[in-house]
Amino acid sequence: SLKGKTAVITGSTSGIGLGIAEELARAGADLVLNSFTDKDEDHALAKELAQKHGVAVRYIQADMSKGDECRKLIEKAGSCDILVNNAGIQHVAAIEEFPVDSWDRIIAINLNSTFHTTAAALPLMRKAGWGRVINIASAHGLTASPYKGAYVAAKHGQVGFTKVTALECAGQGITANAICPGYVLTPMVESQIPDQMKKHNMDRETVIKKVMLDRQPSGDFATVEQIGGIAVFLASNAGAQITGTTISVDGGWTAL
Ligand code: NAD
Repeated sequence: SLKGKTAVITGSTSGIGLGIAEELARAGADLVLNSFTDKDEDHALAKELAQKHGVAVRYIQADMSKGDECRKLIEKAGSCDILVNNAGIQHVAAIEEFPVDSWDRIIAINLNSTFHTTAAALPLMRKAGWGRVINIASAHGLTASPYKGAYVAAKHGQVGFTKVTALECAGQGITANAICPGYVLTPMVESQIPDQMKKHNMDRETVIKKVMLDRQPSGDFATVEQIGGIAVFLASNAGAQITGTTISVDGGWTAL
């Protein structure tokens, strides 16, 4: 059980982050939820998860595109036994047309935030003599697709940084690993479907099967519950000697 542990999950009001939060809470962990908004529904979500799982849940607003806010998130959390770097965004464009501000934003949120939160969390983990850093990278942290330059660069960088974190923490009860999902049907993926329908002149089902899941030999999306289950496994004692590595949850994508 993860009772008595506090998990901080960045970008956890929807999609994979929320799925991971749910599974960690089910395993007994207290939670700090995060996003860049400060809406009533953000705080309501925290209350809902607390009631559902009988754990303490706080919502802390912090914009993961800003280094100082990443560090403040950990400071405000006060304790951080399990750090899940999940916040991420996507933009699809050819290199010559890639908007510079989109490039900078993707590198900031998908890569730099992991550096800032980790730097702030490691002293807390070292003090506790126990810690888990779980970075949500991607199949695109291990392989590439055209038109996803910033995302692929950020995710490869995040995988590299995961290995460095593992080495700097080895022998201290702290592990660092990256989960590399293929396609998971979340708002992020949902938002790419209309563009792909237009681009390929296909209907929704065909885009899902022929464009998206074409890379995923299993022919199925992974679910947020499954990604959450891997996070619980990494946080468990079974994961104590798993460090500096990646776990692919991609239906065979990276085996191709
Ligand atoms: P999502 O859009 O559903 O969720 C992203 C979350 O990040 C949201 O809660 C959003 O509020 C938050 N976020 C965005 N910008 C933020 C900011 N500036 N500060 C704080 N929070 C911010 O996306 P998702 O599909 O659940 O993606 C979660 C992570 O998983 C991302 O890092 C993504 O790259 C990765 N991933 C997703 C897939 C997939 O198929 N969905 C595959 C591989 C990896």
